[in-house]
Amino acid sequence: MAGLEVAGVVLGSIPLVISALEHYGEGVAVMKNMRDFEYVFDDIQTQFAASVGIYVNSCYQLLGPLNLPDEQMNELLDERNIRAWSEPKLQSGVQARLGPNTKVYISLMAKLNKRIRLFCKKLKLDDDLKPPWLGSDGSIDEKARRKFFKSTWTKIKGGFDAAKYATLLEGIDRDIDKISKLTSGGLQLEPLRAERKNRMQSIYWQNVRHQAERLFDSLSARFNPCACNQPHQANLRLDVRKENDGQDEHTRFAFLLTFEKSACIPQSLPWDWRHIEIESSQSLVTQQVIPITTESSRKTAHFAPSIIVSSSTQATSRSASPSLAAKIDNLCGALMDGSQFFQIGCCLGVLDDQQWQHHVYAVAGPGSNDQVSEPASLNEMICGARSITTRQKCTLALTLASSVLQLHDTPWLPRSWDTKDIFILKGKSGSILPSAYVSRTFDSPTVSPAVVKGRRSCVKNEHLFALGVALLEIAHGAPLMSLLTPEDLNDDGQQDSMTEFRVATRLADEIHEAESENYARAVLRCIRCNFDSFQADFGDQEFREKYFEGVIMPLQTDWEFVTGGKT
Ligand SMILES: [Zn+2]
Repeated sequence: MAGLEVAGVVLGSIPLVISALEHYGEGVAVMKNMRDFEYVFDDIQTQFAASVGIYVNSCYQLLGPLNLPDEQMNELLDERNIRAWSEPKLQSGVQARLGPNTKVYISLMAKLNKRIRLFCKKLKLDDDLKPPWLGSDGSIDEKARRKFFKSTWTKIKGGFDAAKYATLLEGIDRDIDKISKLTSGGLQLEPLRAERKNRMQSIYWQNVRHQAERLFDSLSARFNPCACNQPHQANLRLDVRKENDGQDEHTRFAFLLTFEKSACIPQSLPWDWRHIEIESSQSLVTQQVIPITTESSRKTAHFAPSIIVSSSTQATSRSASPSLAAKIDNLCGALMDGSQFFQIGCCLGVLDDQQWQHHVYAVAGPGSNDQVSEPASLNEMICGARSITTRQKCTLALTLASSVLQLHDTPWLPRSWDTKDIFILKGKSGSILPSAYVSRTFDSPTVSPAVVKGRRSCVKNEHLFALGVALLEIAHGAPLMSLLTPEDLNDDGQQDSMTEFRVATRLADEIHEAESENYARAVLRCIRCNFDSFQADFGDQEFREKYFEGVIMPLQTDWEFVTGGKT
């Protein structure tokens, strides 16, 4: 948001203009035959000071709730440092407060600044907004003052007689009144805007989930059974999606398609690893599909597991020559031609699902340069000898929390999932490839959606509890049940159906001693389902909003802190 610095310019000029008016008043008072104008200046000065007082208040009102450090507030409001007003973080904070009124605010401010400058010009102030008889050290040059009031004054006093200055001051007053109303109005609207944003977010996540569910059905219909008679496996990449205001419904899912290797002879497979991305949209007769290059397809594997911040507006570099995408009847056959996978962003065609069209793109994918050898579960990674770095921990935590919101109650994520259901891929060289995946194999006529492992009666929301356990395991670098102590056992010294819950709550209550406050609070909310809401179901909009605020936001803050917000 450019232009906020003008607020600093106005703030800086105010004391100078007030001081200039005082000097005018004094000058007029000591000149013979000009005493009548003393009152005029007094009036002008009072009116100007009152108006700008309201302006300064509006600046405090605008900045106060941003909770800026004292030092920064001093720079902005007391020292009136113009550069301090152009600081990008401050600008985005002000934009968040004023919302769509930001533009109006800035243009009003520019108008006000123009009027003040005009006022100064009419008073014949110099570039530093000082009367010409005032030295830079504040000393008064009597000779220059006398000369000014004898010659220049006669030229400008007509303006005072004709009340032209009063009109200009009224204009200044009106601008300030509008600015002040806009600032206070903006503040009153802010909670409403935040509420609306949360609601739109919540709807967006629900749409993403529906899309994931539809894609499962679509892939299942094509792979189960498939003409090649091999058990197809789809690995869905877990992406952290950017905040979305719900306006753009195009969401991309990335898949790594392969086969359930343990159930087939590798030589008989029609193809092996295929990276694709699917973007779904509601069918439109005129829909055109254009080969595109995506940001994620250019990513190189350097850190594992990395975060994929998927944007709904990825399609930035569309190539020319749009063409209508062909319908894919045989997905397995379409994937057979490996040459297409060397053309990054090539559209393979469309999976037509009645009202929905799923556009399939061939992408390079994370394993392209170092073909995937075998997937390892997150559980294996946790149990492994190598410790999980802080960066990996923060990345995994945010990815999993976001994925729960995107995939809850779809066939992709069992209701009581655990770290064995999350996969990290290994390259042939043994390196861990970026990204985490969930995996489904289409090998039986009825792929049971979300296999329910024994339900825990004490747990209000299985998905949430599973996430809490995964976060605990990642933090401890050990499976939950390996952290069992005698105090977690029942009165008979035995394990029972409550044992897992007891271990988890004990660890969650202690986790703030070792982890950041954000991480600890997120874990505690997941394990104890502590959201101050009547519902504990992701189908409930309010609950989704509270989950976003209470779990995803704090984990995102930690992730941004550790990684600097970079992937
Ligand atoms: Zn097949």
